[in-house]
Amino acid sequence: MTKQQMLNNLKRECENCYACEIGKKRTNLVFGAGNPDTVSVVLIGEAPGEQEDLQGKPFVGKAGQFLDEYLQKAGIDRNKDLFIINTLKCRPFVIKNSEKGIKSNRPPKKEEKLACETFMLKQIEIINPKLIILCGNNALKSLCGSKYTITKVHGTLANLEYKGRKAIAIYHPSYLISYVHSEEKNKEFLEDLKYIKSLIK
Ligand code: SF4
Repeated sequence: MTKQQMLNNLKRECENCYACEIGKKRTNLVFGAGNPDTVSVVLIGEAPGEQEDLQGKPFVGKAGQFLDEYLQKAGIDRNKDLFIINTLKCRPFVIKNSEKGIKSNRPPKKEEKLACETFMLKQIEIINPKLIILCGNNALKSLCGSKYTITKVHGTLANLEYKGRKAIAIYHPSYLISYVHSEEKNKEFLEDLKYIKSLIK
């Protein structure tokens, strides 16, 4: 069976999964995207947001556009070099305004991460990447431990691993575009991506 066939089977399992409450409320499952036969890196984000839930694809909102722009600048081909997934396959949200049906993203709950981890691990096992990118402080802390902080460990291979695989952390694009607004941090983000490009050549 090819990697793609194995992923297709796993995706069908996910589509039938309603282990968490958010499973019943999703518009679309966000399984992941990329070509498993050409990728050498799995990028892991935290969870789908509004646009991801609507389109069923990871990193397609504003943060995704920012990521695409910087991947391109670093010479990384999103479709060929990366398989992008999240720790959760369904969007965690709270209702902000029930009359208008406005939803707001919320962080994944511990039990949701635990419930969905099996799918993520199977994806990684099937794709068998050279490197894992942990995108953002939440993915870093939830997969490598709370002692790590993104500002200290981003862009370095020092000591980071996930389930025995080498891992590297990068800032989350949402953090850069919504909270920091710093050209300096954007430059660091680009340098980290260029370093990753040098590792996967
Ligand atoms: S988040 Fe994962 S475990 Fe929870 S319902 Fe969705 S697919 Fe299932």
